[in-house]
Amino acid sequence: GPIIDIRGLSLAYERNGRRTEILSALDLAVPRGQFLVIVGESGVGKSTLLRVLIDLAKPSGGTVHLGTDPQKTRTPMALVFQDARLLPWRRVIDNVAFGLERHGLSKPERRERAAAMLKLVGLSDFAGRWPHQLSGGQRQRVAIARALAVEPEVLLMDEPFSALDSFTREGLQDEIQRIKAQTGKTVLFVTHDIDEAVYLADRVVVLAGSPGRIAADVTLAPPRPRQ
Ligand code: ADP
Ligand code: ADP
Repeated sequence: GPIIDIRGLSLAYERNGRRTEILSALDLAVPRGQFLVIVGESGVGKSTLLRVLIDLAKPSGGTVHLGTDPQKTRTPMALVFQDARLLPWRRVIDNVAFGLERHGLSKPERRERAAAMLKLVGLSDFAGRWPHQLSGGQRQRVAIARALAVEPEVLLMDEPFSALDSFTREGLQDEIQRIKAQTGKTVLFVTHDIDEAVYLADRVVVLAGSPGRIAADVTLAPPRPRQ
């Protein structure tokens, strides 16, 4: 079955004593290995939807069924934010290895995994650098390496390139295309950039309205060269 199965999801926040519905009647089934991009204008509830999946927001209705390993021997989800959130006092490689400390790996094993992930994102030469020595795009690559290092069943990306200049952003998008081809990872990628969505996605889901609903759900045929 699908790795994520959302049915009739609604979610409301209490604001100034008033209940505001943010998401309403969402149905979304994500098959394993799909690269799903969720687009929609700012404030429509995209981040909230990701937060539901990692248990940081509680739905007010509907069901969310995860087809991830119930024993949690594998990490179900890892999240990449708009800002890299690196630890400034740790070298790049140790930032990537950081999330592995709870995975019962020895220090050499953690370093080895981290080095492989840095290679995947093209930053092998930067392993010994400090975060402040990297450009914004490089820091975001480190964040992606750190998220992939725990081998999550699903990779969640919340506007990961929105803070980058357009040249850096295109480079990172191509990097993601490469990682997608190399790993076949299930990805939920949130953006407000339609071009980015169409370039990266196997499928685009458009959230619109207040409360946010699924306004369009389109599966795209590969391959699509950059316009
Ligand atoms: P998007 O990611 O699409 O920009 P968000 O999911 O961040 O949208 O936010 C959707 C709406 O929910 C916004 O109006 C936001 O202000 C509101 N919101 C988000 N988190 C909370 C919260 N913890 N409490 C109250 N309102 C919130
Ligand atoms: P961007 O255009 O992405 O902002 P920067 O101008 O910040 O890039 O950095 C360009 C290059 O210079 C990058 O390869 C980065 O690693 C390197 N760099 C930036 N700041 C430092 C620093 N303080 N020490 C060493 N290298 C740096």
